[in-house]
Formats: sequence, structure tokens, C-alpha cells
Amino acid sequence: MKANPISPTIPLDQDGVHHGFLKLPYSRDDSAWGSVMIPLTVIQNGEGKTALLTGANHGDEYEGPVALQELAQTTRAEDVTGRLIIVPYFNAPAFRAGTRTSPIDRGNLNRSFPGRPDGTVTEKIADYFQRTLLPLADIAVDFHSGGKTLDFVPFAAAHILDDKPLQVACYAAMKAFNAPYSVQLLEIDSAGMYDTAVEDMGKVLVTTELGGGGSSSARSNAIARKGLRNVLIHAGILAGEMQIAPTVNLDMPDGDCFLFAEGDGLFEIMVDLGETVEAGALIARVWPQDRTGVAPTGYYARRSGILISRHFPGLIKSGDCVAVIGVVED
Ligand SMILES: [Zn+2]
Repeated sequence: MKANPISPTIPLDQDGVHHGFLKLPYSRDDSAWGSVMIPLTVIQNGEGKTALLTGANHGDEYEGPVALQELAQTTRAEDVTGRLIIVPYFNAPAFRAGTRTSPIDRGNLNRSFPGRPDGTVTEKIADYFQRTLLPLADIAVDFHSGGKTLDFVPFAAAHILDDKPLQVACYAAMKAFNAPYSVQLLEIDSAGMYDTAVEDMGKVLVTTELGGGGSSSARSNAIARKGLRNVLIHAGILAGEMQIAPTVNLDMPDGDCFLFAEGDGLFEIMVDLGETVEAGALIARVWPQDRTGVAPTGYYARRSGILISRHFPGLIKSGDCVAVIGVVED
């Protein structure tokens, strides 16, 4: 396998606080010998576990970047046992553009793993994490939210895994994150995901969906900040007491949790996030966008539960995710 062209501008394995970049050469019209610069902080103090912390895997999701910028700026080496590798803007070109995918190659980083060292910019970033940074890590926290097109109740998530000891460790880390909701997550499209790369390597993963709509809120940022600190205490990397509040446990048993649009139109949500719905309840209506006098198309819950995600923009297109229902566990 070829060497990855990304090089860190700071050491990954020296005690102290180091702020720098992952530097990825990218020759282009406006910069012949230019590079993509991905901000990176490494904080290390002696022996211990390594946490690999990423935000903006999708470029329009903001709680992770906010929490990780604060962690990188305020954490002292003596606060840490082991190592923090902090990358607030995982897909940095997408983050800078305010878009889900990279403006350079349209790459969706979370569908690009394991990546390629000789591929597109996005594939090179994936390959560097796959072969260089992930092998260093014991635990990974990858922050997500809905971006511009979805909104979520705030949850941390863990996946059902074949590796049961790893699944137990991932659930424990999710519980430590202690978001208002904790979800046993069913992925609709897991191939190429960073999550799958982390778990297949036997590393503990915590992922989240903390809000959405293309911004963040005081509430959602506070959930990210607390959850991050809790997970790092749980891992033994930071000292202190975890802050634990009640969490609602949710399951997503199968594809009936998801509703998808089968036409374009004006979107009207009928239930707000966090509300309880019964199977058969009207979740959303889609009105024609080209005329009056025609009844809307209704979208109905296929199981009982609570609304955990919804389409965010005021217009919807065929194939868009209308809503997701989670089932409350006893
Ligand atoms: Zn995301």
C-alpha cells in the first residue's frame, strides 16, 4: 500500500500540548503547491489511553467542532493521563464551505472509509485516519448532528456488534456520554462509515446526533461539552466526577422506524421532536408546490414511539427522510 501524503506538523507522541495541522498537499488553480490544512491538537501526558476526537465529519454539523475547539484551547497537559488527539474539523474543506460533503470532490467522508492513499482529497483523509490515527486510539468520539437537512433529539448512540465485549464497552461509553437520549442505532447505510472502520478495528466508538438544521444551540453545545468530558473521565484520561442525569433509552428495531418522501413539495411536520406517537399517526403532510386545491400527501408512523428525527427544510424532495421514530425501552 502506498504511503499517505498527509503529514502532521506537530509530533503525535510527545508529552505536552501541541497545536498544528494535518497537512495534505493539494495542487490546484489558485495554489500550485498548496495544501489542505486540517487543524489538529495533541495533548499528551505520560502513559494511558488515547482518545481520537472528531467533529465536522460532515461539514455542516457544529456541536462537535464547538466542544472540541474549547477542549483543545483549555486543556493543560497536566489535566491528561494518556493522550488526546483532537480534530474539530475532520472534513475540513466541507467545514470551511458549510456543506455536508467536500466542495473539492463532493466526498462524503462518512461514506469514504477505508479510503485510499492515492484517491481523492476525501479518500486521502479517510485513509490517514484508517491507517495512521485510528491504530493509535483506544476510544473514538465522532460528533454528528443533522446538518442542514435533518434535526434530531439530542442522543448518543452505540451499534449492535458481533464483537459482544466491544459492544458492551461501546454501550458503557455511550452511557458515560449521558445525552438526554441514548440510542441503540440501526444504520441504513453502514458501508464506508467511519463508525464501521472504528468498530472493525476493535476500538470503542461513541457517536452522536445532537441537533441539526445547520447550526447549534446553547442547549446542544452544553450536551456536547458535558458528554465529551464524561467520556474522557470514563476512559481514565481526564480526572473528576462524571455528571450523570436521567437518559431515555431508545431502540430502532428495523426499517419501519424510517419514513421517506415519495414526492416533492411543501413540507408540514405534524409532530415535534420528542413527542410520543402511536402507529398510524399522521407525522407529516406534503403539499403541492405548484398549485392549490389538491389534498396533501400524508406520511404515517409505521410503529409507536417518539419522534427522534425530522426533515428540517421547508421544502422536501422525493427520497428525502421525512422522520425517524425511536422505540422507548423499558
Ligand atoms: Zn453527520
